[in-house]
Amino acid sequence: MKDTFKHKGLRKQLVATLVAKGITNAAVLEAIGSIPRHLFMDSSFLDHAYQDKAFPIAASQTISQPYTVAFQSELLEVKAGDKILEIGTGSGYQTAVLCLLGAHVYSIERQLELFKKTNKFLPKIGYVAKRLIFGDGYKGLEEDAPFDSIIVTAGAPFVPKPLLAQLKIGGRLVIPVGDEAQIMTLYIRKGPKEFEKHELGNFKFVPLLENKN
Ligand code: SAH
Repeated sequence: MKDTFKHKGLRKQLVATLVAKGITNAAVLEAIGSIPRHLFMDSSFLDHAYQDKAFPIAASQTISQPYTVAFQSELLEVKAGDKILEIGTGSGYQTAVLCLLGAHVYSIERQLELFKKTNKFLPKIGYVAKRLIFGDGYKGLEEDAPFDSIIVTAGAPFVPKPLLAQLKIGGRLVIPVGDEAQIMTLYIRKGPKEFEKHELGNFKFVPLLENKN
């Protein structure tokens, strides 16, 4: 579990790549510049950890591409102390970014193997989420709602209603919507029944799965 000068140098280059691709939020860039992404991946992928690419993790899932993590994090407009729900903990990398941005993070994962692994690993390297939950993200997390924002890190065939319902007024839902490919979609809750919708480009995620393995 080493973080070497080489890793730090590669992270600097990664941050420069993200800036070149249009990421501007300084806190997000700083978080990506400081989190040892290589520790979130299986050792055979160590050399690839700082390329701007998604990579396989356990249970046939992927750690999201750094650009995607940065793009989604930026859209959340995180303020310190924000209560944020993440659907799809996966490796915990996005969770760590949100923790570093000062958010209180609640994160749900439906793959038991990944849940167990990340539940152990994240606190071990110093990122402490408020709650990591093994469960189905389609339902959101009613018992801890409402949230300042909700981020979905898997491709959703449709927007689950509970997620919209569990946003505070003024809250933001960032969700990639679509089957084969997804459109990054931002919903801002303007009132009890009013939502503003923005579509923000094409992405490709592993699917948000419901009631099957
Ligand atoms: N943020 C993660 C992304 C992992 S990929 C990272 O950067 O590592 C998406 C994750 O969503 C996978 O771990 C997958 O198991 C999980 N997932 C899929 N459907 C889900 C659901 N219904 N509820 C919770 N998690 C789900």
